[in-house]
Amino acid sequence: MSLFPSRSSARDDDDEYTAVPTIPLEDAPLHTQDHPFCYDGACGCHEDHLLVDEINTAYQDGLLTSNEATNVTRGRTV
Ligand SMILES: [Zn+2]
Repeated sequence: MSLFPSRSSARDDDDEYTAVPTIPLEDAPLHTQDHPFCYDGACGCHEDHLLVDEINTAYQDGLLTSNEATNVTRGRTV
């Protein structure tokens, strides 16, 4: 006998929204654990040997193809 069938799902959306972790954006954008390289080709992240090394390791482990590895270091999603 609910007159507002959409109410509970809207409530769920709210809960989900508040549960999203806030990523600080004061630093350069788009540096995340999954995507350590941003789209800015002038950014130093593309020359960070530790990061590049991780991609190389993933490539050598067969986790990434060479194309994917290149795309990741260019800041694109795989
Ligand atoms: Zn960057």
